Amino acid sequence: MSAVSNIQELKRSIRETADKAGRDPAGIGLVIVTKTVLPEKILEAYGAGERDFGENRVQEWQDKKETLPTDIRWHLIGHLQTNKVKYVVGKSTLIHSLDRLELADAIEKQAAGKGIAEVPCLVQVNMSGEESKFGLDPAQVESFMKQITGKSAIKIKGLMTIGPLTEDEARIRDCFRKTRQLFEDLSMRFREHHWEVLSMGMSADYKIAIEEGANMLRIGSLVFPRGAVK
Ligand SMILES: *Cc1c(COP(=O)(O)O)cnc(C)c1O
Repeated sequence: MSAVSNIQELKRSIRETADKAGRDPAGIGLVIVTKTVLPEKILEAYGAGERDFGENRVQEWQDKKETLPTDIRWHLIGHLQTNKVKYVVGKSTLIHSLDRLELADAIEKQAAGKGIAEVPCLVQVNMSGEESKFGLDPAQVESFMKQITGKSAIKIKGLMTIGPLTEDEARIRDCFRKTRQLFEDLSMRFREHHWEVLSMGMSADYKIAIEEGANMLRIGSLVFPRGAVK
C-alpha cells in the first residue's frame, strides 16, 4: 500500500471513530510522523495535501528538512536535548515534548536571542508512569506552569502524552482519560494560555485516544509501515 492510500484509509477510520464517539472529525488534527522515513516518501504524503509532519530526532530532521518544501509544519515530538534547542526554536510549529525547567530556560534564551516572540509548546506528561517515558509527573504540571509564567516566549498550548506500551485497552484508556481530565482542569486554571491542543494517540491506540478526547493524533507506522520505508 502506498503512503497516500494509507492516509486515505486512516482518515476514513478517524472519521468513523469520531462519528461513533459523537465527535466532530474536523476537530481532530493529524500529525504524520516521518521519523526514519526518506524524503521522497514524505513528499508522497505532501503531494496528497498533508502539511503537518512530526519528527523525534533533531539531527535526522535537519538533514531531511533541507530537501523538503518550506510550507511543511514540523512538529517536534521526541525528547529534546537542550543543546539542540537552537535548531528547533523558530523552525518548528509546535514542540510537543517540553518536560523540564532546564529545557524551558533554553527555549526562552534562544527565542530572546533570535527575536522570536512566541514558541508554541505542549507540556509532555508521563501519565502511564512508565519509567522509560519522558514527561512530567502529572502532579507536577501545575507547579511547572507557575514556574514558567515569567518566560514570555513560551506559549503552552496544551498537553501531550504517550499511551502505555500494552495490549491492555483499559490501561490505555485510563491513561488518556486522566490526561484529558488534567487538560480540562488546567485549561480552566490557566485560562489566559488558551489551551487548545491535547496530543495523544499513535498507530496502535488512536481510536481509544479519539474516544477519550484527543484533538491531535501522532501517527507514523500506519502510514509508513516499518521496513517498507528504506
Ligand atoms: C514514533 C512516535 C509516534 C508515532 O508512532 P507510530 O506507532 O509509528 O504511529 C508518535 N509519537 C511519538 C512521540 C513518537 O516517537
